[in-house]
Amino acid sequence: MGLTEYIFIAAFFGLPGVLGAWLAHSRGRNPLVWGLLSAPFPFFVFIIWFQKPDQEIPGHFRKCPSCGAVYPWKLDACKYCGAEVHR
Ligand SMILES: [Zn+2]
Repeated sequence: MGLTEYIFIAAFFGLPGVLGAWLAHSRGRNPLVWGLLSAPFPFFVFIIWFQKPDQEIPGHFRKCPSCGAVYPWKLDACKYCGAEVHR
């Protein structure tokens, strides 16, 4: 087998694995477990993509002090109750 095939296989299984691990990390889940699940079964990437963390993950998700909902870190206000972020 040539180098091209190895790179293709590494990209085919590695990309969803890395993506699943990174998404799990940003959601406070176990990146190793989700990476290993996502590599052979890329649909796990979609599952973890729609998962919301249940606690604040600095840099990724913020927990609203007003209503307790978890929403993306980059937003300036809670998208559920409108409470502004005090940075
Ligand atoms: Zn809120």
